Amino acid sequence: MASINIQNLVKKYGDGFPAVNNVSIDIADGEFMILVGPSGCGKSTLLRMIVGLEDITSGELTIGERRVNDLAPRDRNLAMVFQNYALYPHLTVYENIAFPLRLAKLDNAEVDRLVRDASSTLELDEHLERKPGNLSGGQRQRVAMGRAIVRQADAFLFDEPLSNLDAKLRGQMRTEIARLQKRLGITTVYVTHDQTEAMTLGDRVAVLKRGLLQQLATPRELYDNPGNLFVAGFIGSPPMNFLPAEVTGNKVKLPFGEVEIPAEKAARAEGRGLLIAGIRPEAFEDAKLAESKGVATGTATFSANVDVVEWLGNETYAYIPFEAPPEVTKQLAQLEKELDSEALRTQLVVSLDGSSRITAGTEAEIWVDSAKMHLFDPATGENLT
Ligand code: ATP
Repeated sequence: MASINIQNLVKKYGDGFPAVNNVSIDIADGEFMILVGPSGCGKSTLLRMIVGLEDITSGELTIGERRVNDLAPRDRNLAMVFQNYALYPHLTVYENIAFPLRLAKLDNAEVDRLVRDASSTLELDEHLERKPGNLSGGQRQRVAMGRAIVRQADAFLFDEPLSNLDAKLRGQMRTEIARLQKRLGITTVYVTHDQTEAMTLGDRVAVLKRGLLQQLATPRELYDNPGNLFVAGFIGSPPMNFLPAEVTGNKVKLPFGEVEIPAEKAARAEGRGLLIAGIRPEAFEDAKLAESKGVATGTATFSANVDVVEWLGNETYAYIPFEAPPEVTKQLAQLEKELDSEALRTQLVVSLDGSSRITAGTEAEIWVDSAKMHLFDPATGENLT
């Protein structure tokens, strides 16, 4: 096992915009690191540079104590688990797992010991004589991981391993990968465009956009304290709401009225003119319900026209249309493009307790937990709070 140190890595194809632009990430021994971002952000290129399938234009790559910039892939001792698992269909599970050991010319007894160790860890014992074609997707994934384990690779590298699976299997496989990684304690770098995979699997998550590292943090930190609009919009489902906002004193003017925010937040955003407020759907509540739970809602409640209500049992989504001024609309249209996401700029989505009696086509009293409000600079996207 080993740590992986990525320092100022750059990848340029031709003279174009760098696919990976000066990215630095320190991956600890045993850590599960996620590289996430929309299509074209450079995450696969970064992974391919780590594994040695892509030359490094500049920067330093260290695995354990070794600088590996110029080492061939086979000399880096990393195990890449591909999307299609790259299993040999004509070989049994046993021989698929044994394959790297045969290449290394280990004797039969040693091969047998290592294969049986791996298959017992991966609970593949009863499938050793089967061919990959007769296995489930999950079992195939484990065979692919078994092949990596027997080599005693320093790290696992995954490139979107679940993207071809249906939603149910994807969920199962995700849990399986998490369980195995924790059990094996092996350093893992995992590329995905799916924020749910990123949040559930990663010890830490590196969010990339157009080759640039946007934020490197634990899932909780990304969720609670996104560094900029892009990260805020990318992490969380349904996504964070973005609204035009202006701060005066410790009050924020939103399209629906004014709410008070904590003084230290206000101080960081006051006098900066038009801003973008970011509020997650679950930071709202039906004001009546909040009051019944003893919340003092007075300074952070507004009335709004609800046009659609979706009751899901444990929660209720209410949709509230609003209009934003052109400065904000322009910035949010850009964000929608970057995130490949649907309209962020025309409606507020609030998640209320399922017991709420709010109905569509009426004016509702909504409370917002304003300590959870973020305020972004509309020009730079930076989170000011
Ligand atoms: P996806 O999820 O779509 O695979 P990604 O985030 O993994 O995207 P990369 O595949 O790393 O992104 O690509 C990053 C950028 O580099 C893209 O703009 C892509 O077009 C460009 N790129 C990737 N490979 C090459 C190549 N061999 N030659 C030229 N440009 C490339």
